[in-house]
Amino acid sequence: MTEVSKSIPPTPKRPHKNKSKAHQKPVICPYCGAQALLRPVGDLFEEPYRRLNNFWVCVKHPECDAYTAAHLKDDSPMGPLANAGLRFKRMQAHYYFDQLWRSGIFSRNAAYRWLGDALGVKWKDKQPHISQMSDVFCDIVIRESQAVLQNHKGKVEMQRGVDDDG
Ligand SMILES: [Zn+2]
Repeated sequence: MTEVSKSIPPTPKRPHKNKSKAHQKPVICPYCGAQALLRPVGDLFEEPYRRLNNFWVCVKHPECDAYTAAHLKDDSPMGPLANAGLRFKRMQAHYYFDQLWRSGIFSRNAAYRWLGDALGVKWKDKQPHISQMSDVFCDIVIRESQAVLQNHKGKVEMQRGVDDDG
């Protein structure tokens, strides 16, 4: 339903007259050496990462599966483009996250709601999919899930409403 044009204009080299000073330098894919372009998040994910504006994506994507999120404030890349290790990170993220509901700390639905909160993202109706998450999100999922698991390690009693932390 999203109307994203297939043809992405090459290298938006604009004169330096707008606010975006943060990424004057071209963003380069560390894996294939091609340039990365700023693209709307809908190009990459169908999921409603609504608060995120854009992603820096390798021009060879999807052949080269490298990308990184852009900061909301200035569209500067949050980090280098990632693909190697990203799949492993997603597995890790899924592993730790699944323990949250498999161990009974949360119900599965509550776990996904928690996940949305942890990521600071508003989900529409669908669940967030770790399998589509960027490196950045995986880090958050892993970190936050581990923190919850740690918190509940010693506590046998499960309290609800304690998570006004994230
Ligand atoms: Zn690349």
